[in-house]
Amino acid sequence: MDPLIALRQIAYYKDRAREDPRRVMAYRNAADIVEGLTEAERERHGAANSWQSLPGIGPKTAKVIAQAWAGREPDALVELRSSAEDLGGGDIRAALKGDLHVHSNWSDGSAPIEEMMLAAKELGHEYCALTDHSPRLTIANGLSPERLRKQLDVIDELRDAVAPMRILTGIEVDILEDGSLDQEPELLARLDVVVASVHSKLSMDAPSMTRRMIRAVESPHADVLGHCTGRLVTGNRGIRPESKFDAEKVFTACRENGNRGGDKFTARAARPADPPVEPGAGDRVPFLHRHRLACSRPTGVPRLRRSARLGCRGARGPNRQHLAGGEATGLGGVLTRCDEGGQLRAVV
Ligand SMILES: [Zn+2]
Ligand SMILES: [Zn+2]
Repeated sequence: MDPLIALRQIAYYKDRAREDPRRVMAYRNAADIVEGLTEAERERHGAANSWQSLPGIGPKTAKVIAQAWAGREPDALVELRSSAEDLGGGDIRAALKGDLHVHSNWSDGSAPIEEMMLAAKELGHEYCALTDHSPRLTIANGLSPERLRKQLDVIDELRDAVAPMRILTGIEVDILEDGSLDQEPELLARLDVVVASVHSKLSMDAPSMTRRMIRAVESPHADVLGHCTGRLVTGNRGIRPESKFDAEKVFTACRENGNRGGDKFTARAARPADPPVEPGAGDRVPFLHRHRLACSRPTGVPRLRRSARLGCRGARGPNRQHLAGGEATGLGGVLTRCDEGGQLRAVV
């Protein structure tokens, strides 16, 4: 068995069992180390069974590598797989088409983006949104605007590898104390999915918390109100009581502000991959996939008649197909410029 696959599968099962992320990462680090070796180096360590001499490889990971190298499934993997709990869910689990809230090791998750997206594809998901934390959540290594921009490029590079599953760009943005959102509005507007969550001052008084959440929900960028009670019921962080707020008012605000995107997720996520196109200036495109159009509010149409500057990182390289498609609104557009930086200007 390929040692890399064995190590990564072990990490997967450990993550699934909610083991300490640092222990999980030891297996992924070991996989990275083996991956970085030349074929000759692997042969040498395999023949001498000297894996543990490599910095970063401990007795447990060395044993896994040695057993896999010898052509068998490592004991640790067999054991983890057989003891993997059936997490239940039955029909609901089967009906699940995707995930709109995941954290990678760019913030406080333990797995790299590529591995997570491949796992999501393996699960049969049609889409998966990456929603790492925002800057103020320093304890979770929240992403600065610069890091988030970089992450968007990383995602674009990955799209073809996980197709036909669609990666949705996203964020779990902190709802600050006054209800504003902890990321540049321009950047939030570029993302497919914005989950807004309270992570600080969870025990503030109910009227303040209600105002705070309502303001966040009213933001044109917020798509999902994350874990509104903030309650912790299990896990290695202990338990925590729920936050106090006027649920009636907050959920009414959600309902009143929740229609603006229409079915933007389903329209975009369920759409089959667009055929590659090579648009040029002046070409008509049926619709540009970026959210600024897709999340038009009831009042959005007049706004959209103006020239709209759209993020279109897919304009480069193998991801050109992301320029096309989009039956979500039926609006048309004319591509007027598509420069090196991947910025696209459309008149709609
Ligand atoms: Zn989260
Ligand atoms: Zn959260």
